[in-house]
Amino acid sequence: MTVDQVVDRASVPAASRETLEDYTLRFAPRTYRRWTPAVVGASALGGIAYMADFSIGAGIGLTHGRLVFVLVNLAIALVLMEADMFSFLNNLLSFYSNCAMAWVVTVAADIAINKYVLKLSPRQPEFRRGMLHAVNPVGVGSFLASSVLSISVYFGLFGAAVQLCSPLVAVGIPVVLAPLPAVLTRGRFYLRRTDDGIAEPVLDADGNPSGTRYECVVCRESYERPDMAASAEGGEICSLCLSTDRDGRHVLPAP
Ligand SMILES: [Zn+2]
Repeated sequence: MTVDQVVDRASVPAASRETLEDYTLRFAPRTYRRWTPAVVGASALGGIAYMADFSIGAGIGLTHGRLVFVLVNLAIALVLMEADMFSFLNNLLSFYSNCAMAWVVTVAADIAINKYVLKLSPRQPEFRRGMLHAVNPVGVGSFLASSVLSISVYFGLFGAAVQLCSPLVAVGIPVVLAPLPAVLTRGRFYLRRTDDGIAEPVLDADGNPSGTRYECVVCRESYERPDMAASAEGGEICSLCLSTDRDGRHVLPAP
């Protein structure tokens, strides 16, 4: 099942209120919003594991008394420590932190350098579908390159001497690699369109987001100007309906 099928503002009161709406859903690309059988299975297994954990604990406690329950817990804790489960978790988190640092510094370098120093990235953040390219080599390139490099350093590909420096690689490489593709592509892959098809500008004369409300042609709710774009089929459409438009018939064509 996809989230596309369940988004119906009338039946979800929170979704019809902009302040309560799930903005992660709103900004997520359409392909991220598909729940694969593996994701559903993992979520179900997680829930079952919790319930099993509680019911086994309660079963032991109720049947054999609290002392036995405490001793069983201590025994499990001892097994986890003796099996060195904590260093396994430590390794897993250290591995993951390389990717996390590469991602955070890529975003920071894009904002600080590409946006404010080089002025290649648009000043106003854009999120509406159809206004952005599917892939911008700035973020994808910098994140992938610095993640792969820092993980390689972390796993000792460049020798044991520099193995501990993997966080420095994850933090240092994006500072160079985020601006480089932006300069090479001259910032062409940030915006797909600059005009969202609505005559009124997003910002008013004082530079504040315009509060004019437009009615969405799909959900019939009204939203303020920055959340709206023109539909390719006429009228205005809100960014959520635009994101969840399954066959893309409301998405404006590339200029
Ligand atoms: Zn809508």
